[in-house]
Amino acid sequence: MDLSLDQRYLDFRDEVRSFIAANRGHAPPAVTFRDRVKPGPAEFAWQARLIEAGYAARTIPREYGGFGAEPDMLEQSIIAEEFSAAGVQGGLQGIGIIMLVPTLLEVGTPEQKARYIPKAITGEEWWCQGYSEPGSGSDLASLRTRGVLEGDEWVINGQKIWTSGAHYAQMMFCLVRTEPDAPKHRGISYLLIPMNTPGVTVSPLKTMTGRSEFNQVFFDDVRIPATNIVAGRGEGWKVANVTLKHERGGLGDPAKSIARFEGLLKLMKRETVDGSRAIDDPLLADRLMQLEAKVLALKFNNMRVLTADLEGNDPGLARLVTKYYGTVLNHEIDALAIDAMGELGVLYEDGEYLRDEGAWQAWYMHDLGLIIGGGSTNIQRNIIAERGLDLPREPKAVIPPQGMGGGTASGGRG
Ligand SMILES: Cc1cc2nc3c(=O)[nH]c(=O)nc-3n(C[C@H](O)[C@H](O)[C@H](O)COP(=O)(O)OP(=O)(O)OC[C@H]3O[C@@H](n4cnc5c(N)ncnc54)[C@H](O)[C@@H]3O)c2cc1C
Repeated sequence: MDLSLDQRYLDFRDEVRSFIAANRGHAPPAVTFRDRVKPGPAEFAWQARLIEAGYAARTIPREYGGFGAEPDMLEQSIIAEEFSAAGVQGGLQGIGIIMLVPTLLEVGTPEQKARYIPKAITGEEWWCQGYSEPGSGSDLASLRTRGVLEGDEWVINGQKIWTSGAHYAQMMFCLVRTEPDAPKHRGISYLLIPMNTPGVTVSPLKTMTGRSEFNQVFFDDVRIPATNIVAGRGEGWKVANVTLKHERGGLGDPAKSIARFEGLLKLMKRETVDGSRAIDDPLLADRLMQLEAKVLALKFNNMRVLTADLEGNDPGLARLVTKYYGTVLNHEIDALAIDAMGELGVLYEDGEYLRDEGAWQAWYMHDLGLIIGGGSTNIQRNIIAERGLDLPREPKAVIPPQGMGGGTASGGRG
């Protein structure tokens, strides 16, 4: 396979580089992990500039506020690589942009696309994902939050948990059981809930980073219009799987691993342990090279996914690998950075010896969460083995029924 760029793409790369050189003064300052919260006016203004130039929302149709380019995987990877290499923030990466927008483009009504996509891509409306519930994470289809149609409104009661960003989101896409008598996968609907609706209560939860990143969300007689449903009643599981496809791609995004690896490389050239540079330590250098090979493998695997998508084929195993491989890889990169800092690696709170404002230590803890979020690594491995490699299914543990959703552990988040 010839991976060199032809002239057209070399020209495109030059265009991207010129844009970055001319506009980087407008980019928001690099945020450290610690202050990475809800994006503000600087990020929104930068996003608007990127959309106008075609470096964010590139393939979103113009009628929905995007740039309207034809999908081209090489252009997408050139954009990601050039922004990452220049150390300049690319477009916004919220849950709405990564997951909801492609879902609506695939299965939303024209009205839903027109109403929600423009505000999602500019960041004006921030989204959160209401899937998991206490007791319904891996076995997501056992979820119990209830939606009952009363006249022209859904009335929702129940609870979600681990809802990232719900404390500042304006909207939630949410899985709700609307057909209690149907088999569990067919009783779920995909509803769009404004977070300021009376009866929605958000209660933040702290992760081990010490920050509140996700939440519990309670619904107490929450009423939303009957039209806030994507696809039909009972079709929520199918819609959820469209969203999950994009969530996994986003969670294993190679551009992120490439940027993280480049940061690691700089750190290992800079930091010294017992007087010699970390990169000159044979054991650390050996780990570094292994990680470089893995980063390249992730990048090329992603090209397989994008190529198959563009050709209208199912990338099969390649897509399943992305989330699993990318999230585990990021955690390994963070771990090497911490080891390369020697005794300074254990620092976390502010102090004069803290490196990169404690970002590596925070990422190490945060990335562990991403290995679980969006479907845990164990579940991903099972899916890869069973659906990708056609290996025999794991024996199922028989669990005594506990109301709805009891039965067998099915590893449904997949
Ligand atoms: C940082 C973070 C952010 C998140 N953000 C969101 C969000 O925004 N919205 C949302 O809806 N959810 C979110 N989640 C929740 C996430 O999707 C769930 O944590 C995940 O699906 C696992 O579910 P669980 O926590 O209930 O664990 P469980 O399903 O209880 O699993 C516990 C352990 O058992 C293993 N296990 C379970 N079943 C099987 C099986 N059949 N075979 C083998 N092993 C099995 C799992 O791998 C895991 O190790 C987030 C989670 C994290 C950590």
